Amino acid sequence: VEHRGSCCSSESADSAISTTSETRRVILLGAPGVGKSSLASGFGAEEQGFGVEPEPRADDTYERSLVVDDEEMTLLVLDTWQQDSSQRVQEQNLLCGDVFLVVYSVTEPASLHTAVKLIRTLRTTRLGERVPTILVGNKSDLVRARGVSFDEGRTCAAEHGCKFIETSAALGHNSEELLVGIVRQIRLLGEGAGP
Ligand code: GDP
Ligand code: MG
Repeated sequence: VEHRGSCCSSESADSAISTTSETRRVILLGAPGVGKSSLASGFGAEEQGFGVEPEPRADDTYERSLVVDDEEMTLLVLDTWQQDSSQRVQEQNLLCGDVFLVVYSVTEPASLHTAVKLIRTLRTTRLGERVPTILVGNKSDLVRARGVSFDEGRTCAAEHGCKFIETSAALGHNSEELLVGIVRQIRLLGEGAGP
């Protein structure tokens, strides 16, 4: 899979990464305000401990290494998606990810519709590839404002061949589980799909 040319401004980032484990690009997609940036900065924060502000790399990029099933993987989380970017820039984002987190807010049914559209666009853009994709229902802490049920989200994910998880970036709920899920999805779909 050779989508990794100069897209996502990640060449400078690549050169700074230790090469002791594999690095995979994680791209966050979703409507504005659903919590993409909050999730991304949370990933970096846990590595550095409580109360430590994560230091974003250049271009809203966060790096996180974790050991899952006795093997290390480094995730480069890119919070570069903007709904109002040009089509060309959006397409570059879709082409350069190894795994996609498509985020909606459980308080905003419209954001689930946006997520579904993005998944469809992703599938079209990466036709014939099994790109690991996780549908993420964020803001699960806002119980009273909930407008999308867990089952609705899960069903929607299943219909579109995605894994599903609900998170609260505000409380850090399920953020480790999400990271582990990312690593497992990459391994699962990566097997036998190599060059
Ligand atoms: P983005 O536009 O998708 O990057 O969304 P942001 O990360 O900037 O979040 C938008 C707003 O939602 C901010 O005010 C966040 O503090 C808030 N937010 C993000 N995640 C959560 C969450 O899990 N729970 C709650 N209650 N608020 C959240
Ligand atoms: Mg943001």
